[in-house]
Amino acid sequence: MWRLLCILALVISSEARPKKYAGIPLQKPVSPRASTDNRLNKTLVKPSNYALDLKVTKDNLDKGEFSGAVTITLNVLKDTDSFVIHAKALNISTVTLTGNNYAGTVTAEDADANDFVTITGSKNITKGDNYILKIDYTGVLSDTDMDGFYRSSYKDADGNTKYLATTQFEQTGARRAFPCFDEPSFKATFDITITYPDTSTALSNTEPKKTRSDAENGLVTVAFKTTPKMSTYLIAFIVSEFECTDIKKADDGTPTSVCGRPGTKETLSNALKAGIEALNTMKTFTNIAYGALGNKKMTQAAIPDFATGAMENWGLATYRETDLIWDKDQSSNYYQEVVYTAVAHELAHQWFGDYVTIDSWSDLFLKEGFATYFEYHSAAQVHKDWQLEKQFVLEQVQTILVTDSRKDSEALSYNTSDLGEIESRYNDVSYSKGSAVLKMLQSFLGLKNFKKGLNKYLTDHAQNVATPDELWSSFEDFKPKDVPDKLTVVMDNWTKKAGYPLLSLTQNEANITVTQQRFLLSDDDSDYTKWYVPITYTTSADPSKFTETTTKQWLTPDTNVTIVLDKKDNWIILNNQQVGYYRVNYDKTLLAKIKDALNSDGQGKIDEISRSQLVDDQLNFARAGKAEYADVLKFLEFMKNDNSYYTWYSAFEGFSYLLKRTNDDKIRTPLKKYVKDLMESLLVSVPFTTENPKAQIYTLKQVLALTWACNLGEENCVNNATAAFTSYTTDDKIPSRNLKSIVYCTGLKNSKNSTNDYDFLYNKYLSTDLATEQVTILEALGCINNSTIRQEYLKVALTDKVRIHNVDFVFKSVYSNNEKEGVNDMLQFIQNNYQDFEKHFGTQSTLTSLISKVGDWITNQDQIDTLNEFLKTYGLDASIKEAVKTAVASATTNLKEISTLEGKLKDYFGPTSGASINTYHLVNLALIGVVYLFFNFF
Ligand SMILES: [Zn+2]
Repeated sequence: MWRLLCILALVISSEARPKKYAGIPLQKPVSPRASTDNRLNKTLVKPSNYALDLKVTKDNLDKGEFSGAVTITLNVLKDTDSFVIHAKALNISTVTLTGNNYAGTVTAEDADANDFVTITGSKNITKGDNYILKIDYTGVLSDTDMDGFYRSSYKDADGNTKYLATTQFEQTGARRAFPCFDEPSFKATFDITITYPDTSTALSNTEPKKTRSDAENGLVTVAFKTTPKMSTYLIAFIVSEFECTDIKKADDGTPTSVCGRPGTKETLSNALKAGIEALNTMKTFTNIAYGALGNKKMTQAAIPDFATGAMENWGLATYRETDLIWDKDQSSNYYQEVVYTAVAHELAHQWFGDYVTIDSWSDLFLKEGFATYFEYHSAAQVHKDWQLEKQFVLEQVQTILVTDSRKDSEALSYNTSDLGEIESRYNDVSYSKGSAVLKMLQSFLGLKNFKKGLNKYLTDHAQNVATPDELWSSFEDFKPKDVPDKLTVVMDNWTKKAGYPLLSLTQNEANITVTQQRFLLSDDDSDYTKWYVPITYTTSADPSKFTETTTKQWLTPDTNVTIVLDKKDNWIILNNQQVGYYRVNYDKTLLAKIKDALNSDGQGKIDEISRSQLVDDQLNFARAGKAEYADVLKFLEFMKNDNSYYTWYSAFEGFSYLLKRTNDDKIRTPLKKYVKDLMESLLVSVPFTTENPKAQIYTLKQVLALTWACNLGEENCVNNATAAFTSYTTDDKIPSRNLKSIVYCTGLKNSKNSTNDYDFLYNKYLSTDLATEQVTILEALGCINNSTIRQEYLKVALTDKVRIHNVDFVFKSVYSNNEKEGVNDMLQFIQNNYQDFEKHFGTQSTLTSLISKVGDWITNQDQIDTLNEFLKTYGLDASIKEAVKTAVASATTNLKEISTLEGKLKDYFGPTSGASINTYHLVNLALIGVVYLFFNFF
């Protein structure tokens, strides 16, 4: 599954109710479920095949319902009187059990809190193959939660609403479409048959085998070919009037196509190309062709309503429209990259997840780590100029290093049986740390050995399940001699412990000692975890070594490392290309040498990823109290001459934190001035008026730099953006596809006619059906410089004008773009409209999740008081109260963090810090003046 946002995270009760056992007592009673948790019992009953027969008529689509019959072939492994299967929100009408001379009847209890339906026999169900369990039932196609078998819609060319029925089963949605053994390790084959209106088509995991028409009733029935042995969460089906691109074949002959709403065919060609490329690259990488996995076709489909980003259903991957539909004239380069990387992610899952599956959701990283790794490293094989391997370092490694330095961070493998906890595994740790650790493994094994190990892993566990230890063992025969222990030992703490090491370097003449300790943002030294750490480094003697990622020395849990420098070495920098999952702290002497080099011509030939790593590490050391902000901000002054996208990306991440966690204008104003001054040469390198969309990194850098410049009120940027916005409102001159996000937001922030400008852009939103454009506008409308209009805009989120999966863009655009006022607006909106959330979304979870997000943006006591006032509201539901209390607690922590941070920043920016700094402050006040009153940051 591809992240983004899961707005409607389901609140699933984890309460396990006591079970009643009916029927004839057995000599040796066997629990129908596993004894220690709420998982199915693997030693009792296993399915081998499902024949699933679904019916969705036109009337069903209109009413949001469906009917089905499932026939499950079972293998009973032990004598029992009952067993359990999963079902949720299904109305079961009949249940029969036949085969293996079974002569009794069976009954089904209603589903319990674990979605367990207990099937109890009137006679003993004895050990044996080929039992046939048949269940008839009906179910609902939900409109609101985009989970299970659900209904999505769009408007056709004539403005009529068209409904479609589609699926999202990961992790536990299959049980809402058919009764089943809904855990990944219960693999079986599936024969799916769907009856649907003859104006529609039906898609599923495999190719159609047989189609039958019932003209009298306007229905068609299609039987799909038997699937490979697979998990329930990877089943998919869609009944729609979608159109598909022509079929193209991958290198191994696999036919692929992409489908979406009528009218989107042209804009799906990018995804078709990405799909072919991903299948071909994965074949080369793993030495196993897609077709050899067991499925003979690959379809990708863009779904108008989609809870996450995308889903890797075997042979029928589904996506949110922004992740698959790309318009070459209107969508930005960024979204083109999103399509390629999302497709690379989902198609990598066909090998890692679909073919070889995780044994339990506890090891989610085993599939999401791989998919995230390939998201970059597969697309990188074809689009070399996108430098995706370098982007991987910024977007995955550096991001997760921050999350994973919290005391409460979780390990990659985390024992999960509870349904609520399963949801919580879909976090950055599983995806980003999973991929970062795999990247480190790839680097110390070497790419060739890594590929050999992957092939062995896939071959040994073909169409089966695997555990992390089985993965590490697959590489054992291919590891280089220098790896200090068995891979299961080397990888153990990377997998089973939270956090990562901080490597500290101390120089004593030519000797440099490297020690390790867990890095935590909080001032806490109580975690003694140590890791096996592969070390790479480059010295000033040969800067060409920055591209070499072969391990030079191993740091082990028991021993420190000594690096002996050559006489001609001046500086040393660890962790080439940041392939190791750790931070590096240099002692004062070593850091001073690096600083000198960075300030010399061409940044002393220090590689841009190393520069980016230094920036990221230094800013986080200051945050953790391991360095002084005054020193770090001085260190960053080399960036006045550094125009690398990578260095700046890391710096902006750090500056975002500083601006989010400061409140006092006496700090914020000079801080913004500091950033703006630092950006001078960067902005010269990417002028507003010079676009080059063929150059990907230039374009990404331009958008990043100008977004910051305009937000900081940099005059040139603001003038250019507002002029472009005015050209749009007066002459309908559409802004360029890459800069439009900046033009929209800056135009609204600096608007002199707020109502007209807001209405203009809002109407553009209503008139487009291109998802990337809709989201770009939704993200900008909250920038409007008028609080009353912002309240009106927030109300739009609670109407059918905004798809449920997009409401977060509306909220975030208000609370993150307008400093304190945006947060105030959001708190006021919640107070005035909280009752409408459940009416509109059918659940409180959108509201509770919003309260928690806003809590993170709170910067002052007044805002906390507002939340406390809200808490006193009569009749507030318990879940909302709980969310508000949690938000108050996190906001109170923010205030402490703000106070500490502002105290530290005063050393550099405060009034007593020296003349030059005071000048910063005064000049800034004079320059920004009135513009600042309207200027709203983040
Ligand atoms: Zn995924």
